[in-house]
Amino acid sequence: MPQDSSTLDATPTQTLASVDPQISKLIHSEQERQEFTLEMIASENHTSPAVMEAVGSCLTNKYCEGYPGKRYYSGCAFYDEVEKLAIERACKLFGCQFANVQPHSGANANMATFFALLDIGDTFCSVELSDGGHLTHGSPVNISGKWYKPVHYPLVYDEARPDFGFIDYDAVEKLCMTHKPRLLICGYSAYPRKIDFNRFREIADKCGAILMADIAHIAGLVAGGSHESPFPHCHVVTTTTHKTLRGPRGGLVMTNDPEIAKKIDKAVFPGSQGGPLMHVIAGKAVCFGEALRDEFKAYAKQVVTNAASLAKGLQSRDWALASNGTDNHLMLMDLRRSKPANGEITGKDASGWLDNAGIITNKNTVARDERSPMVTSGVRIGTPALTTRGFKEDQMEDVADMIDRVLRSRGAENTIRKVRGEVVELCKQFPMPH
Ligand code: PLP
Repeated sequence: MPQDSSTLDATPTQTLASVDPQISKLIHSEQERQEFTLEMIASENHTSPAVMEAVGSCLTNKYCEGYPGKRYYSGCAFYDEVEKLAIERACKLFGCQFANVQPHSGANANMATFFALLDIGDTFCSVELSDGGHLTHGSPVNISGKWYKPVHYPLVYDEARPDFGFIDYDAVEKLCMTHKPRLLICGYSAYPRKIDFNRFREIADKCGAILMADIAHIAGLVAGGSHESPFPHCHVVTTTTHKTLRGPRGGLVMTNDPEIAKKIDKAVFPGSQGGPLMHVIAGKAVCFGEALRDEFKAYAKQVVTNAASLAKGLQSRDWALASNGTDNHLMLMDLRRSKPANGEITGKDASGWLDNAGIITNKNTVARDERSPMVTSGVRIGTPALTTRGFKEDQMEDVADMIDRVLRSRGAENTIRKVRGEVVELCKQFPMPH
């Protein structure tokens, strides 16, 4: 007897292409976009097929509210093992004693940390969004800025100083001694230099603040030994798992302090989240396992080497960089100070032209930017994803040359077409991980 078509439609064994050709086609198009463009957004990467397999697994089916051994649902035995492995590997990777692997994202990790360690209305100290901080570090449109009281420390703005564009540590200390914040945050979204965690701890101790590092951007560099670790200096460390760390999209909170660990666990669940995304936690465990291997150390080192090579290539072509260079995986082109831009090119123009050529970056404010966040005077560029594809210094020199030609041509059609072709050829030589 023929089955009724609604039953057939609901058969869970059918492929995505047959169940939902529209979504399937969109995913296919996106896969092709990633394969044939240069992904240079500093917060993005190409995660491994193993991570994607875990994230696409049957672990998405289960509710596991609670923590290993203390769940509110039955049938969690395998999930307990998955979460315990993720925690154990995170602790080994970052050299700490406690980890909460449940935050759905970096923003959730930060919100839970605020919720755990601050009372509503408490003062905390951070860098402001337009200077390279993150929305969750006190932006007036975010809960962190609406419910708590941020005071922001500056970067060094004096071009004559050798530490121009670096964190102004003396100003951090002065501000902290004046405002006595309960929490001091280091770690940023668009800061190209190393962070002196030790100096931050000295300041935190002096003013009586808890020191929090948000290493969302540099987690992979820390894990791979290419950036100093926030431990043992910081009381609490938050991160994402999908940027330089190259895992699934997600968040993580770590500490060595058992009291803070208890508060964080409560603040994540039941404080601010419900059921954990166990398929993503499995992906995090796979990512931490990958990052514990020697190959990942080599990867992290190459990310930094590639960024230095790209920075040199851009600077030698007269493009100015915030802080005049980079120590990590990213750089910020400062178009206001770049001769070829002649004061005319905005971050919006530049990232739009580069996008047309298949070089994917993002417009970004630079310190004391007078242009709006939708226009900006800067472009943020990073090397994590290209390094995953196998790019080395020689290719970074080619990329610097392409960026230079696109921007100098002011996005001229013939230049864009030529560079787009070169990008495709480069992508064919260095396929994404499959
Ligand atoms: N913290 C920093 C420093 C970030 O750069 C980001 C994301 O860009 C986040 C937190 C938030 O992460 P998510 O987008 O996963 O919420």
